[in-house]
Amino acid sequence: MAHRSNHAPDSVLIVDDEPAILEIVSQFLADRGYRVSGAETAADALRLAGEERYDVALVDLKLPDRAGIELLAPLSESNPSIACIVMTAFASIESTIEALRLNAFDYILKPFDLARIGEAVDAAAQHARLRSESDRVLARLEAQNRKLEEGKEALARELASINDELRHANESLKRHVTRLRVLYQMGRDISSNENWSDALDRFLMAFCKYLEAEGAALLLFSNNALELKVRTAYQLETPFLDGAIERLAGWQRRDLLPTEIFALDGAAPDGVRTCLSMTVRWAHTAVPLLYKSRWLGFLVVRKPYRSRKAYVNDYHFINTIQTILSEEVANAVNISRLRQLKDFNETVLENMNGGVLTTDAAGLVTFLNERARELAGGASLGRPLDEIFANPFGAGSLFAHLLARGEGSCSFECLLARAGGRSIPVRLNTALVKRDEHHGRTAIVVFEDLTAEKRMEEELRRADRLRSLGELSAGVAHEIRNPLTGIATTAQVLREKLAGDRERIAYIDVILEEIARLDGIIKSLLNFARPIAPRQIEVALGGIVEDALRLVEDRAREAGVTIRFESSLPDDRCILDGDQIKQVVLNIALNGIEACASGGIVSVRLREAADPAFVEIEIADTGTGVSDEIADKLYNPFFTTKAEGTGMGLSISRKIAESHGGRIRHRSAPGEGASFFIELPRTALLAADRTAAPAAN
Ligand code: ADP
Repeated sequence: MAHRSNHAPDSVLIVDDEPAILEIVSQFLADRGYRVSGAETAADALRLAGEERYDVALVDLKLPDRAGIELLAPLSESNPSIACIVMTAFASIESTIEALRLNAFDYILKPFDLARIGEAVDAAAQHARLRSESDRVLARLEAQNRKLEEGKEALARELASINDELRHANESLKRHVTRLRVLYQMGRDISSNENWSDALDRFLMAFCKYLEAEGAALLLFSNNALELKVRTAYQLETPFLDGAIERLAGWQRRDLLPTEIFALDGAAPDGVRTCLSMTVRWAHTAVPLLYKSRWLGFLVVRKPYRSRKAYVNDYHFINTIQTILSEEVANAVNISRLRQLKDFNETVLENMNGGVLTTDAAGLVTFLNERARELAGGASLGRPLDEIFANPFGAGSLFAHLLARGEGSCSFECLLARAGGRSIPVRLNTALVKRDEHHGRTAIVVFEDLTAEKRMEEELRRADRLRSLGELSAGVAHEIRNPLTGIATTAQVLREKLAGDRERIAYIDVILEEIARLDGIIKSLLNFARPIAPRQIEVALGGIVEDALRLVEDRAREAGVTIRFESSLPDDRCILDGDQIKQVVLNIALNGIEACASGGIVSVRLREAADPAFVEIEIADTGTGVSDEIADKLYNPFFTTKAEGTGMGLSISRKIAESHGGRIRHRSAPGEGASFFIELPRTALLAADRTAAPAAN
């Protein structure tokens, strides 16, 4: 039997009360390769089936102790895969139907043919095998299914708990991120606030709250990193902070990784241990603040940690704060230093004696210091440089000229246009700078007012000119005077000889008058050339002025001009040369009268000058005024616009005033009269004194 070759033999239970049949069939089936057991009664059969597993049962329907049909159910119970074949000699329809209803596999009629039994048993055995196989598979499947179900439940439980954890983690992450965001914002406040103390206090307070710390303080190194000081503290006492400073002060000289964080109250000999290596409890943590390898200071935190493990929870938070705070404090320190530098620069610029202005790349003014605003009166930001300074190098733009000259600084003189069309001489020092690749060159201009310097130069030149003129005049006057005396004497002799000849005498008189006029000029020339040394006598200046005015009264009356005099000097005593000053007042008052038309007024005022050591005599007239063209030449010797004038009045007057240590100025607008101001020291400053008191100029 090929199909059985690799199997344990199938087992067959034969139940029949006839020993002969039992034996024949047993033998036949054993020969066919089955393991066979036999039972003559139902009870025997059930016992065997309880002891062993059978694949097939051949059951006779008529048994001595019970009907074979009743055996089918209990057999199936003890051997669930058993296939039962029913045998009977008296087949009835009912018994057949009943047998099949009870799941009998086959039905064999007696007397039987062994071949039929062989076929039926083979088929039943195969059926039983298949059934038991399928039962086994089913059982395995069921077991697996059960396991799967169990796995699924465990998985669901695990998933739920993982979900829970995730939700927790997510919430704590969110909380953490919110806190960091708040602290980050507060950190930004530190560097963006001019006064960062308040921002710092808020930051420390929030930091303590989030970390659940008891207090914190920020210690910062001074600029030179030599001194460590408390910048701000929240709930930490001064004695404790003093101790912390003592321990940490030398730490800026150590090589540290910025992320190392220390316990302040550790057991180490130097009192400082990195927190991650702590084995004992500690309460004070020092967080170093470094920025780009520059030591800024420490954040000191008070929070008790029982062990390193408790600290690990806070480590990343503290670490992040360390980064934020380092950066913000570095920025705040830099910004406050920049601010100080800017204030300093501004103070220096604003208090400089010279004007400073800068332009943009288009030559428009971007900055003016106080002095520049004052000198360039009215110059405002955005105004072109070319409108402020006249180009001394040609007709084009000064800014374009500077650009064309290229880098470096240069210094030159030019005119600065002031509001109202007046110009003043200035010296310019300019530098062109290029701030970066993207912008053109801009100018920095430093300039100083040369007006006083120029005036001094002019005075020196004039003094020089006058000195040589004086020497020349003295020589010439001397040379002319001798022959003139000869001519006059001869004319006088002639006149006497022509006594009675009226007509001729009239000619001689003309000669003598002209000689007298020439002599007058020579006299004033010699006066001018002669060094004037004022005699110093105490005089009442009011009286001197009145004397002078009395001398010109007649001339004024003839010209129809009124002279007025007033004095606001409570004490007009001065120490000076009264005669010389009388001469000055006389000269200038005469000029005033001559400048006026009939009905004009010459007003003379005596008052205190701006400097109380000086007095001022103002002689103002309502005459023609002095035009701009001649204003510069007025005081030059021999400068006159009058047919009969000598041009010596003002030059001699100025010389006298200066020899006293005073000066003469005038102010005039054509058509509106002229005012001359004679400023004199109450006590004449002689040349020797004047070198010691240049203010008199
Ligand atoms: P002179 O009177 O002989 O001309 P001065 O030196 O006194 O010589 O004056 C020089 C010139 O100054 C005068 O010719 C005149 O043109 C001008 N001047 C002086 N005083 C006045 C005045 N009060 N008003 C207008 N012009 C004046």
